[in-house]
Amino acid sequence: MDLQSHDILIVGGGGAGLRAAIAIGEENPRLSVGVISKVYPMRSHTVSAEGGAAAVIKPNDSLDDHAKDTIAGGDWLPDQDAVWAFVSEAPKEMVLLEHWGCPWNREPDGSVAVRPFGGMQNERTWFAADKTGFHMLHALFQTSLKYNNVTRYDEWFALKLLQDDGRVQGVAALELRTGAIRALGGKATILCTGGAGRIFPFTTNAAIKSGDGMALAYRAGVPMKDMEFVQYHPTGLPGTGILITEAARGEGGILVNKDGYRYLQDYNLGQPLDVHDPKHPQKKTMELGPRDRLSQAFMKELDKGKTVKLETAAGVVDVVHLDVRHLGEKKIMKKIPFVRELAKNYAGIDPVHQPIPVRPVVHYMMGGVSTDIDGATSVPGLFAAGECACVSINGANRLGSNSLTELLVFGARSARSAVKFAADHPNINAAALSGQAADEQRAIVQRWFQGGGGKETLAGIRLEMNTTMETGCGIYRTEASLQTTCNKLRELKERFKQVSISDKSNSFNTELTTAIELGYLLDAAEAVAFSALARKESRGSHQRVDFPARNDQEYLRHSLAFRTDGDPRIEYKDVVITKWPPAERVYGQTK
Ligand SMILES: Cc1cc2nc3c(=O)[nH]c(=O)nc-3n(C[C@H](O)[C@H](O)[C@H](O)COP(=O)(O)OP(=O)(O)OC[C@H]3O[C@@H](n4cnc5c(N)ncnc54)[C@H](O)[C@@H]3O)c2cc1C
Repeated sequence: MDLQSHDILIVGGGGAGLRAAIAIGEENPRLSVGVISKVYPMRSHTVSAEGGAAAVIKPNDSLDDHAKDTIAGGDWLPDQDAVWAFVSEAPKEMVLLEHWGCPWNREPDGSVAVRPFGGMQNERTWFAADKTGFHMLHALFQTSLKYNNVTRYDEWFALKLLQDDGRVQGVAALELRTGAIRALGGKATILCTGGAGRIFPFTTNAAIKSGDGMALAYRAGVPMKDMEFVQYHPTGLPGTGILITEAARGEGGILVNKDGYRYLQDYNLGQPLDVHDPKHPQKKTMELGPRDRLSQAFMKELDKGKTVKLETAAGVVDVVHLDVRHLGEKKIMKKIPFVRELAKNYAGIDPVHQPIPVRPVVHYMMGGVSTDIDGATSVPGLFAAGECACVSINGANRLGSNSLTELLVFGARSARSAVKFAADHPNINAAALSGQAADEQRAIVQRWFQGGGGKETLAGIRLEMNTTMETGCGIYRTEASLQTTCNKLRELKERFKQVSISDKSNSFNTELTTAIELGYLLDAAEAVAFSALARKESRGSHQRVDFPARNDQEYLRHSLAFRTDGDPRIEYKDVVITKWPPAERVYGQTK
C-alpha cells in the first residue's frame, strides 16, 4: 500500500486541530502538515459553541484570579502549572484570533466586551454574540488556508495509529468517498478529535463526538486521565438536548422550580439579587455557580418533587424553567439571539414571553488522553490537544468558556512540541507502516464485509450502553450502580463482536463508520465507568452518594485508566500544586 507522508499529522479539523496546523506554519511554514477530518472542518463540534471563550482582558481582572477560579472550579484537581500556562497564554491567543478576523463583541468605547460566566469571580468571557464557536472556527479555518504546506484530508476517518520502533509514525484512515483504506505517515501525530458525549443518551454533543482519538490512544497504550469526570450542563432543551448557553444566565437569566421559586438560593450559591434593578450586576448571583453544582441542585429539586412535568414526544420529562423575560426583547436580540431562535424552533416557545424548559444534559468530558503540559503523551510521537486531551486544566469540573480558549493555547503548544519532536526523529519506517495499514484493511474487510449474520444490532448495543451510563454513572453514583454499569459494559463489549452491518457498499458507508464509532464509544465508556468505580470520594462532577465528602488524603490525584484484555487497570498520579493549596469550594460570596 502506498504511503503519503508528512512531517506532522493532525487528526481533527476542529478548533484544536486547526490552531495546531496554524502554529506549525507559524513555527516553520516549510514543514508539511496533513489534517485528517472525518467531516468537513467547518462541521466540527467547535462550530456549535455559543457562549464564549475566557481570557483576562479587563483592568479589574488578573491572571491570578483566572487561575484561582479555574482551580477552585475544578475542585483542586487541575494541575496548577498547566493552569498557569493556560491563563497566561490565553489573552495573546484571543488577540491573535481577533487579528485573524474573529468579530469579538465590543463595548461602546470600542474595547473588547466580556460577559460573566459560571464560577468566575470577574467578567472575562469574550464572545461573538452567542455564536462564538462558529466565528472562531471560521477565523481559524480561513487562516489555515494561507499555509500552502497544509494538506487537508477532508472526510477521511482515522482507524488506527501506526507504530514502529516504539513510536507513533502515522495513521491508517478510511477515505469515506471511495471506501479505500490509506496509510498516512508522520514524524509526529497530534490527536485533536474532540469529546465523547455520545456515550450518554441525552447530550449537547454532535453525533460525531464518539471518543475516536481517545480510543485510538487508549488502544495504543496511552492512559486515559480523569475520565470519571463528566460535565452535565444545567440547561439543555428537553427532547433534543440542544444547549441553552450559560450566556443566558450570564446576561441575567434566572432558574426557577415549579413554584416559580429561585431554588438555587437553597444550595449555598449565594442570595438572589433583584433582577429588575439595573444597578445590580448579576455576576455574583447563584445562577452563575459552577455547572456541577447547578446540575446537582436540579437532581435535589427532582427528589423534592419541585420540578415541572413536561409532555414531550418521548414521554413526560422533568424540567425547571430558565426565565430571561425580564431582560426584554432588545437585550435578548442583541446578546442572545440564538437562544431565542433555538427555544422557538426546538421548544416551541418564545423566551421573550415565556420561560424556557431546561434540564441537565451531558456536555463535556473533563478527562481524556493523558498528556503533559506540552501535549505529549506517554507514547513517543503522539500528542493530543483540545477536548480529547486531559492536560489537565479542568480537573473535576470545567468552568464554562475555558474550553474554547484551551483548544487555542494547547493546540498551539502541542504543535510546537510536535515540531521539535519531528526535527529530532526525521525517519519513519514506510514499509512497516504500509504493512500495518494493509493489515488493517484486511481486518476491516474480514470483520465487517465478510462476516455477517451476527445477531446483535448497532442500535441495540448503543441504546444499552447509553442507558447503563445514564442510570449507573450519571450525576449521582453509588458503588452498586457503578458496578452494574461496569458489568454491563463488559457484556456489551463481548456482544459487540456479534454486531454485523447490512450495507456492504464502499462509498460513504455510514453504517460502517457508525459501527467503528460504537467500538470507540465502548472503550471511552469503559474508562469512564471503571475510573468512577475506583474513585471513592465526591469531587466536582463526580458525586458518590456512598462517599459524599471530598477525600484529599487519598484522592487528590489523577486517575489513569490503562486498557488491558480484561477490565481497565486504574492507577493514580499526583496533582501538581504550585501556589493554591486545596481549600473548600465556596460560591456566591463577594470578593
Ligand atoms: C453545543 C456546545 C456548545 C459549547 N459552547 C462552548 C462555549 O461557549 N465555550 C467553551 O469554552 N466551550 C464550549 N463548548 C465546548 C467546546 O466547544 C468543545 O470542547 C471544543 O470546541 C472541542 O474542540 P476540539 O477541537 O477539541 O474538537 P471538535 O471541534 O469536536 O473537533 C473534532 C475534530 O476531530 C475530527 N475527528 C474525530 N474523530 C475522527 C476520526 N476518527 N477520524 C478523523 N477525524 C476525526 C472531527 O472531524 C473534527 O474535525 C461547547 C460544546 C458544545 C457541544
